[in-house]
Amino acid sequence: MTDSTENSPEARPLDFIRQIIAEDLRTGKHQHPVTRFPPEPNGFLHIGHAKSICLNFGIAVENNSPCHMRFDDTNPSKEESAYVESIKKDVKWLGFDWGKNLFYASDYFDRLYDYAIQLIKLGKAYVCELSAEEIRIYRGTLTEPGKESPYRDRTIEENLDLFQRMKACEFAEGSRVLRAKIDMNSPNLNMRDPVIYRILKVAHHRTGDKWCIYPMYDYTHCLSDAIEGITHSLCTLEFEDHRPLYDWCLDTLKTACHPRQIEFARLNLTYTVMSKRKILQLVQGNYVAGWDDPRMLTISGLRRRGYPASAIRKFCADIGIGKKESWIDMSVLEGAVRDDLNETAPRAMAVLNPLKVIIDNYPQGQSEELEAQNHPQRPEMGSRTIPFSREIYIEREDFMEDPPKKFFRLGPGREVRLRYGYFIRCVAVVKDVATGEIAAIHCTYDPETRGGSAPDGRKVKGTIHWVSAAHAISCPIRLYDRLFLTENPDADKNVDFKEHLNPQSLTTLDTCMLEPSLSKAQPGESFQFERNGYFCADLIDYQPGAPVFNRTVTLKDSWTKTDK
Ligand code: ATP
Ligand code: MG
Repeated sequence: MTDSTENSPEARPLDFIRQIIAEDLRTGKHQHPVTRFPPEPNGFLHIGHAKSICLNFGIAVENNSPCHMRFDDTNPSKEESAYVESIKKDVKWLGFDWGKNLFYASDYFDRLYDYAIQLIKLGKAYVCELSAEEIRIYRGTLTEPGKESPYRDRTIEENLDLFQRMKACEFAEGSRVLRAKIDMNSPNLNMRDPVIYRILKVAHHRTGDKWCIYPMYDYTHCLSDAIEGITHSLCTLEFEDHRPLYDWCLDTLKTACHPRQIEFARLNLTYTVMSKRKILQLVQGNYVAGWDDPRMLTISGLRRRGYPASAIRKFCADIGIGKKESWIDMSVLEGAVRDDLNETAPRAMAVLNPLKVIIDNYPQGQSEELEAQNHPQRPEMGSRTIPFSREIYIEREDFMEDPPKKFFRLGPGREVRLRYGYFIRCVAVVKDVATGEIAAIHCTYDPETRGGSAPDGRKVKGTIHWVSAAHAISCPIRLYDRLFLTENPDADKNVDFKEHLNPQSLTTLDTCMLEPSLSKAQPGESFQFERNGYFCADLIDYQPGAPVFNRTVTLKDSWTKTDK
């Protein structure tokens, strides 16, 4: 279960939805709220869904009330059980529990059919034989009223007969639909006799071949909420125009429960696309390596990248719930991840771009164990030992042959501190004769400085990380950059969003040298590689003793311009 302080009323002011709920409880309109998270199982969940999950399940946690997990599975041509399973896994991983309240709209198909019969009997629904294209034309536009279908005034008996025959699969797909009879002159297009049932000769992942007619989303959604006794039906702003239809269905059918639909602004995040349809294009076109590619903003991608569930919940709490569309910068999400991992991730040393250092005055064949803190600010996380020997690796970037004044790391004649080790001073540089590149450097160490300080009080300005060459393990490390080069890849409707993909979004390093304790890293385990960022052992590419590491996030905000 989640940490309730993330969203506790003490910690932050109530958002407008929580205010409404608090008022409904105060006035006794409801004894407790009942919310739901209603995904369509047509893809994996993304960070936008996390906002909705944290809202709906968060309200349940705060009120000790139920939140239903309901699959709105009304479109069998796009839905699969594999998506159902991934969604359940993701919601659980985020830290939420629906208990016994797992539902499927498809469980209500019989009742929804009965409701449709009721609508027909009330003279509020009719079978229409216009084609999809004709229905669109007849609907009119925002500036022009719609035109009534020639089938609108069929008798109740005729409608009942035709609808039953639709159900009995007597008609071809697309030849007939059931429409609600509302108002073709309504200023709201959703109220112009919307289609509520269509013929689809497709097997459903749960009901098999039982049905060849399927209810439409809007019709199904409001009735499913009512059947389940949902008190507050929370959805994103684009459904605001659908609310009159939602209310019309429930009022016309006089359902015992009439949930209140409340809309909030969806999450928009820079440098990503957030529609399942677009994410599917990336997956199917092999632009990424599957739904859980660590560059993706899917929940499974973020998990594999090493984003902790607690950081995602904190991010959702921080951005809050409002009524106005806004864009959140990717750095806000990364900041939440950094803050979380800074507290919890053990430290370790890994050299991403190694340069060999030979310590001339350290005896050949000798080695020793140095003690290193697992988390300098949290002694309770303990310590480990790291081997030190005559040959070590440091980052290539930590040495400069001709360093500027402000470079406090290693250069000819200069002295630095090895983290948890000794002071070393550079005495010579070895170059590759053919390329002129620096092949190795020679140093001396001061045996008096074990543990990082000199008895004579002399100071060094830089401390660098390192690993012992003889003991280091070599693991592939994947560095990720943003998946898109532009803040809003969707902005220009005339340009395919895939044109904005960043060709350099993944770099795999395979000459990295890591301290030996990291061979024991378990899949999904996170570390701070000192000075290099937060990394996690990949969940999938893993063999005992040979992890592959993903960089979760850099140490600083690498998204700001100054760093790029
Ligand atoms: P997509 O547009 O990515 O396909 P969707 O809205 O069609 O998403 P659903 O499975 O219908 O996906 O969504 C389940 C719930 O998640 C809905 O209540 C929806 O409003 C909410 N949701 C989807 N995207 C976001 C988002 N970006 N921010 C907040 N809530 C979202
Ligand atoms: Mg949807």
